[in-house]
Amino acid sequence: MSEDGDDIGERMNAGARQAEADREANAALILSLRSQGIRSHKVLSAIERVPRRLFLSAALQRHAAMDSALPIECGQTISQPSLVAMMTEALDVQSAHRVLEVGTGSGYQAAILGHLSGEVHSLERYRTLVDLARERLATLKIGSVEVHHCDGLEGLAEKAPFDRIVVTAAGPDIPRPLADQLADGGKLILPLGPKGTVQQLVMVERRGAVLERRVLADVRFVPLVEGVATRL
Ligand code: SAH
Repeated sequence: MSEDGDDIGERMNAGARQAEADREANAALILSLRSQGIRSHKVLSAIERVPRRLFLSAALQRHAAMDSALPIECGQTISQPSLVAMMTEALDVQSAHRVLEVGTGSGYQAAILGHLSGEVHSLERYRTLVDLARERLATLKIGSVEVHHCDGLEGLAEKAPFDRIVVTAAGPDIPRPLADQLADGGKLILPLGPKGTVQQLVMVERRGAVLERRVLADVRFVPLVEGVATRL
């Protein structure tokens, strides 16, 4: 089948309009994040470079600019952008840091981390989410993030130690392998608390054998679930 020049031109216009709409949506998001106290230029510019729309299913893309968590495939959620920004700022990622994310989900937070560090490993228990996240990261040409299909509760021993670890699903306590894989001087952020209630977002810093903890905020995340998913 041949396609005439008008159709090609029309598609290019639609693409350019979408890119412009994404830029406008992200500019509005950045303004809102600034007004909510996010100060780091590095973090804001990393967020600005990642169109959240691309991390949502077609039916939900029109809600991409909302500052709320939204449903994604496999019954999971993409986090609220202001929470992603707050966690990313608190993590204080430097370009030479080796970063671990537990709970790839849509891949949105991983993409942002990928603009801040040269080596990010993101772990996800659903194969479907792993495949989608890999596709989205490839579309955005973010080569610094590797997505692994495995149980994040075990961490990723072969790449440890990590300077930064962020867990985007909640559990009752710090998973031992993650604490063990945190470098000296490293930071780990994770939501702690029982399923279905408000959890506390906790910052853990390793000082030699000692783990210092402080609470950053009250949050609500989906639960950490042991093992890789057998379906989906
Ligand atoms: N960071 C994500 C939000 C993820 S929601 C984003 O930006 O979209 C939390 C994710 O953690 C879900 O996708 C869930 O499947 C995953 N998860 C829960 N338990 C896990 C485990 N043990 N190992 C790996 N991933 C897990």
